Amino acid sequence: MTACHECDLLLRELTLPITAGAVSCPRCGAVLYRVSHDALERTLALTCAALVLLLVGNLFPIVGLNIQGHHVETTVLGAARQLWRDDMPLVALVLLATTVLMPLIELCALAWLLLPLRSGRRPPGFVIIFRALQLAHPWAMVEVFILGVLVSLVKLSHLADVLPGPAIWCFGALMLVLTVLSSLLDHRALWQAWEAAQE
Ligand SMILES: [Zn+2]
Repeated sequence: MTACHECDLLLRELTLPITAGAVSCPRCGAVLYRVSHDALERTLALTCAALVLLLVGNLFPIVGLNIQGHHVETTVLGAARQLWRDDMPLVALVLLATTVLMPLIELCALAWLLLPLRSGRRPPGFVIIFRALQLAHPWAMVEVFILGVLVSLVKLSHLADVLPGPAIWCFGALMLVLTVLSSLLDHRALWQAWEAAQE
């Protein structure tokens, strides 16, 4: 069932006609939702791109510093390890969770749901994985991390030569891909694909 957000008419979704890629309320004509036939493909393509960016972003240094002839550089995992050693375990855990773990859980959950659905099969544990996806989403904060890194880079540039590493570009691109992904991700399309798929 779906309710019209304009006139509160309660409608059975399966009986609604799709015209020009959108479903409209038969009483007031308001657009209830849009239907895209390649929504799953586009979401899956962005999910794969984001997974690659996340992987590469964690393998390469995020920033390098030249201080009086000494060159130091670190990856995100290296930064978390250093925070742990410097008696800031909570900050290290928050960094790991929001920058690596939660985006990884979110993207793996999406891939787990989308890959079988695309070929017309129901993914095992659909409901639990769907719930995990929604729980992980607010905690994936790559954009906050990128903003934090940029602010500290600007501040550090007075003290040392700051060299942005390859990972910062990956995380920047990841931030954009995740934004597009969350705007494209259509929960209704996922449920409809699940209903249409076979056990
Ligand atoms: Zn209506």
